[in-house]
Parts: sequence; structure tokens; C-alpha cells
Amino acid sequence: MARYALLTDIHANREAFEAVLADLAGRGITRIVILGDIVGYGPDPGWCVDRAKALAGEGAVIVQGNHDAAIAQIDNSMNAIARTAIEWTCGQLDAAQGAFLEGLPLSVAEDDLIFVHASADCPKDWIYVTSERSAWPSFAATKARAIFCGHVHVPAIYSCDLSSRVQSQRITAGMPVPLIRSRRWLAVVGAVGQPRDGVPEAAYAILDTAKNEVTFRRVPYDKAATSAKVRAAGLPETLALRLLRGS
Ligand code: ZN
Repeated sequence: MARYALLTDIHANREAFEAVLADLAGRGITRIVILGDIVGYGPDPGWCVDRAKALAGEGAVIVQGNHDAAIAQIDNSMNAIARTAIEWTCGQLDAAQGAFLEGLPLSVAEDDLIFVHASADCPKDWIYVTSERSAWPSFAATKARAIFCGHVHVPAIYSCDLSSRVQSQRITAGMPVPLIRSRRWLAVVGAVGQPRDGVPEAAYAILDTAKNEVTFRRVPYDKAATSAKVRAAGLPETLALRLLRGS
């Protein structure tokens, strides 16, 4: 039995990353999982990569996100702001940090769980799971009882019944969602470092395999400090503003 802390889309936001790590300490976590996008958009990529590397050394599972992959190979599907931030990020990372991001796996299966940044059917196509319809291919591609992904920056949960009907369900932060055994589950974990659901607090989730439930959490952090660092780094102004708005 295990208690997983599920973090994703840290996006070089040191203050949010530290706040989430502080929040999960003392909650009986047996395994930390980072679902990708350690870098991109934010002002502290080197620090965040080094922290993630240290966590991996202590047994954390880490998969690669599209921004992590873009450090080694330019991603032409990214918008101009994301690409500007990736170019800046490349100049901030040393060779070892770049190699760490490049070497991350696209997905990891553990027991009856799958961890992946985007979708479980085509991880490297970076498909956004934003609806019951777009969640279906992930269920179809695997027999896993639960799939955990990020990429969307908006927390959500979907389940699939025995007749392959996919259903989404409302989430309330701090309220456990029971993972009913007769269904399979896909949780989109909200972003640590750049939330987009209108709530600026850092998001993560805890999976308890003994209680068989997942709890989505929000953690306040010093977003004004991160936002000021984004401006000081000369990154696009919109990246500073969206941290304050959470959208
Ligand atoms: Zn992301």
C-alpha cells in the first residue's frame, strides 16, 4: 500500500515547487511522482531540475513533459511565447541538467497505475485530455486501473465503466474522490507552477492506494515573488501575469 504525491507542470517555479514539497511533508507520502514539465515558462529552471534530480535519487518517479523534451529538440508545435521561454531556458541549463531532462521516460507503469505527461495512448504526441471524448483513447490504450497525467494545467477526473462509457466528475480541493473498483480512472493533476483554472494556488494530488482515493490539493505560495522574477528575467510579460491570475 502506498501514498503517492503527484506533481506536474512545475514550470521552473521554485516558490510553488518548494511550497508543495513543504505541504506534502508529514502526510505519510511513500512515493513522489513528477508528471513532467519541470522547466519552461518560469524563472528558476536550473534549481527545479536539480531539486527533481535529487528527488529521483531518493526514489521519485519522473516522466518527461513536452517542455522538458523541447530543451534537446525544438518543438515546432509550441506557440511563440512557449518557444521564447524555451530558448531562454536553454541558456540557463548546463549540459548535465539538459541530459537529465532528455533522458526522462515518456511514461512509467507501476503496479496497475500509469504515469504520463499528456495522454496514455500516444505520449509523445502531447495530446491534451480536456474532455470525456479526449480521455477515451487513454482508457482504450491500456488496462491500467488508474492513469495519472498533467499537461492541461486544470485538474480533472474521468472514469470509464465496463461498457466503455467515460464520465467526468466535479472536483473539490481537499475532498477525497473514491476510485470505485468497478470503474477505471484517469486523473489530470493540476499544475504546480502555472495553474490555469482561475485559482493561482499551486496544485497537486495525493493518491492513497489503501483507502483507494485521490485528493486534489491547493497550496498558496509567494506568486508575487515568482512573477517579479519572470519580469526580471526578461521573459514575456504574459507569463508574469498569468501566475497572479491563475489562468
Ligand atoms: Zn505544462
